[in-house]
Amino acid sequence: MTTPLFPLQDQLTGYSRALFSTWIYHKRLNILFDAGEGVATSLQNKVFGIRRVFLSHGHADHIAGLMNLINIRNLGAGDQTADLKVYYPAENRLVEFIIDYLNRTQKNLTFNLEWIPITENEIIELTDLRGRLRIKSFKTKHSAKQLSLGYNVIETRRRLKPQYADLSQQEINKLIYSLGRDEIAENFDKIIFTYGGDSRPIEPENVKESLFLCHECTYITYEDDERDFRQHSFLKEVLETAKNAKVANLLLMHTSLRYNLDEWLRAIHKEVERVKPDCKVILLFNDNFYDTEDTSFRRRRAAKYEQNSSD
Ligand SMILES: [Zn+2]
Repeated sequence: MTTPLFPLQDQLTGYSRALFSTWIYHKRLNILFDAGEGVATSLQNKVFGIRRVFLSHGHADHIAGLMNLINIRNLGAGDQTADLKVYYPAENRLVEFIIDYLNRTQKNLTFNLEWIPITENEIIELTDLRGRLRIKSFKTKHSAKQLSLGYNVIETRRRLKPQYADLSQQEINKLIYSLGRDEIAENFDKIIFTYGGDSRPIEPENVKESLFLCHECTYITYEDDERDFRQHSFLKEVLETAKNAKVANLLLMHTSLRYNLDEWLRAIHKEVERVKPDCKVILLFNDNFYDTEDTSFRRRRAAKYEQNSSD
């Protein structure tokens, strides 16, 4: 088995390209985050594994894949009876148009399809999954016209109470014997995965110490946002967000078509040197995940180029 280049490498499948399509499927959680065009075409029969969809907002590049996804779940070769819950920002007219379209055109679904409007700070328990997991929504900063949400996957973990942290194992065992396990340990919440959708930089407080933050990074520099919409984030501020939030891994997504892969990797190297975010930086470029510290694929490509030119 090859060692993964980054945590969750074997758990995540996705596609992201600003304006065109964005979706990320977390296989272990059976959760699809956003549903941009092409999601069913890419996942094919893996769509039957999806139990929940969390939509960040109603822009076409994040929801256009829903029609096909639900159609394939209904007709494709797989478990056509598995329920599907779709969570979306409340009162989103664009999503509600799609719900209406599907209600009119898909009257006899083979599975239970539930549309669940949610707002910020809502908690959805994932009781069907192993471990104590839940999702908590938070507000992001995208369009003035509609609510946009990000999602934290939170795990309840257990640790020693701080006053016992410096004790030896022997002393701890003694305390467990005299006081009981519950007296010396406490529960705490750990964000194990964050999906931010489209947004200006997320408030670090909302994603504090997340183990894996998926943050949009549409532009390399501020000046590149020439339409001046100020709805998206650029590289430096995303790295600063990750640094301030002390995240362990940062996945950059939703990159603009104007830059090629090499331009991204060069810019990321340079900016990481300056900002020092102290986390692993991964880039989702189209449907490929790149560990930005790993330069071996560049060497492979260079070797291929040399080979071709000597032919
Ligand atoms: Zn958007």
